[in-house]
Amino acid sequence: MVAVSIVVPVYNEEECIEPLCSRLHESLSGLDRSYEIILVDDGSTDGTWDLLKTCAEKYPHYRLIRFRRNFGQTAAMSAGFHHARGDIVVTLDADLQNDPDDIPKLLEKLNENYDVVSGWRRDRKDPFINRRLPSIIANGLISWITGVKLHDYGCTLKAYRRDILQDVHLYGEMHRFIPALVSWVGGRVGEVEVRHQARQFGQSKYGISRTFRVILDLITVKFLLRYSMGPMQMFGKIGSVFAVPGLIIFAVMLSGHFSFLLFGTVFASELVKRPIWVMSAVMLVFLGMQFISMGLLAEIQIRTYHEAQSKRTYVVREILESGSGF
Ligand code: UDP
Ligand code: MG
Repeated sequence: MVAVSIVVPVYNEEECIEPLCSRLHESLSGLDRSYEIILVDDGSTDGTWDLLKTCAEKYPHYRLIRFRRNFGQTAAMSAGFHHARGDIVVTLDADLQNDPDDIPKLLEKLNENYDVVSGWRRDRKDPFINRRLPSIIANGLISWITGVKLHDYGCTLKAYRRDILQDVHLYGEMHRFIPALVSWVGGRVGEVEVRHQARQFGQSKYGISRTFRVILDLITVKFLLRYSMGPMQMFGKIGSVFAVPGLIIFAVMLSGHFSFLLFGTVFASELVKRPIWVMSAVMLVFLGMQFISMGLLAEIQIRTYHEAQSKRTYVVREILESGSGF
């Protein structure tokens, strides 16, 4: 039985592998629990894989996974979670920006009945303009929108209970949102300060464009958290914002017509005369109907999603039966 699985996504990090493995060995040999180290090579095109194999021969407790091509950090972490055997999973970066000596601190915090403990790089050693500033804004936004307040969503150094990860599915670049997703399935999320170092070897795999992708992902996460069980609620609301004013303009125009036919008086003549109002009314109603039908389609989709795979619309923590000796 393994207690802790350490998962490390690795992509073109040949200069980091040897220092990483020896640092991990140093820190973890002092750990009072059994552990395994899962290194996921995310389709590296340099000498990373051969160096990983050398490490796995030199040090104990290694498992190596190699992707056929580069699938991204989230996929690499996901593969690590999938193959992990420990009850607790700890993730960290391969570039040694995270300090493996912080792992016991995370485990201790996790013991205080948390399901995820996230590292907070309070004294972060990255450039201010293109890293720390976008990160401060992104963390503020993510905390506000998801309602799970963390200082540092982007820190890979995190500890998770593996059973809660089974209820969390990762797509795209969603790994940074795991705390929010875990909280959504009823998990408790905590935070501890961790150390951080500047990258000593190799280069970062990301540029400033990541900030925009994170914001787009945030929209997806918010939608999933809030509306995935009833998408019509959202599409219907947006649709009504368009359709209702459109219908009101129509109604006013029609009443203008009828008042002319019945009483010979021209009521609301301005509206009828100006094509802009006619066009706006048609466009607004049309847009509104579009949103409402998208909502209906999404409602059918979630039913197909759940029923075709017998997926539940809830997450059970545990089931007890009388007489089973609890
Ligand atoms: N990584 C990966 N696949 C990718 C990009 C990155 O597995 O497509 C790994 C990378 O090797 C590192 C971690 O993800 O271990 C974080 O990447 P990086 O250090 O470049 O990000 P930063 O620290 O600059 O945010
Ligand atoms: Mg890094």
